[in-house]
Amino acid sequence: MWRYIAGVKRSAEKTSQEEPVDKEAKVKKHFFKEQWRKADNGEFCDWLVYDETNLIMYCSVCRQHAPEDAKTNSFIVGTKNLKLEAIKDHESSKCHIQVKKRAQGKAAPENTAAMKALTSLKTAQLDKMKILFRNSHAITKKGRPFQDYEWQCKLDEKKGISTGSRYVNRKQARVFIKHIAAAERKTLQSKIPHLDQIQSPDAEGVNAVQKSKARHYFQTCRDPAFFMFCNFMHDCLTHLSSLSLTLQTSAITVAEVHSCLTATQTVLTKYKTRPGPKLKACICRSTRMMTAS
Ligand SMILES: [Zn+2]
Repeated sequence: MWRYIAGVKRSAEKTSQEEPVDKEAKVKKHFFKEQWRKADNGEFCDWLVYDETNLIMYCSVCRQHAPEDAKTNSFIVGTKNLKLEAIKDHESSKCHIQVKKRAQGKAAPENTAAMKALTSLKTAQLDKMKILFRNSHAITKKGRPFQDYEWQCKLDEKKGISTGSRYVNRKQARVFIKHIAAAERKTLQSKIPHLDQIQSPDAEGVNAVQKSKARHYFQTCRDPAFFMFCNFMHDCLTHLSSLSLTLQTSAITVAEVHSCLTATQTVLTKYKTRPGPKLKACICRSTRMMTAS
């Protein structure tokens, strides 16, 4: 009769359908106990997962990080052996301990022994490089020859400052100076205001005065005569700078001053008719460009 009345069910039928579910739920709760998640030392057993649908428990860490050949482990597949002893056995197992260490290493690589050793090695190497860079920087700032770099490094070693043996030659000093120059150039570029406007005189959002200055500067730089003159000046100033440094030496003799002056004079006179190295390179480059076009 109940089936002829829409929306109404027989109460006896309801209970017969619900009863087995309740029984099953009772069975689940009975077997897996939440307090098992707490280890003997009071720590929370964060790897233990209980799958209520399949009535199994498994180790989330081993499932995620265990190697392929260990994938048959009962705590990876999932075990129905819902006993505290089984959990304790897995926690103290070699496989679980190794996998846990690996997982911790992946999560925080700086804490692993290998990474600590590598970091300390890197730090030591970095300290050495800092000293070598400082030595290279010092000889450049003071306009000293590259061989000064070698004795500076030897002196550091004698003072107990380790510089190693690999990078203490004048060839390496050149490389360091090149890198320092590149870094300095970048810093300088970032400090020069309106560089973008100089690079692109048509940039938007700048006031008229700046725009006009940038345009003028840009046009001047593009002038080949100006560019060649800069190279000519570079050639001349290199010799004049060298002469100046020599004249500043405290132990210099009159004969040496005379010889240095004559040599500089000869070179500068020569530049009247023949281009110096920078100007020569500039001319060659422009000739090549003209030939190519
Ligand atoms: Zn495990």
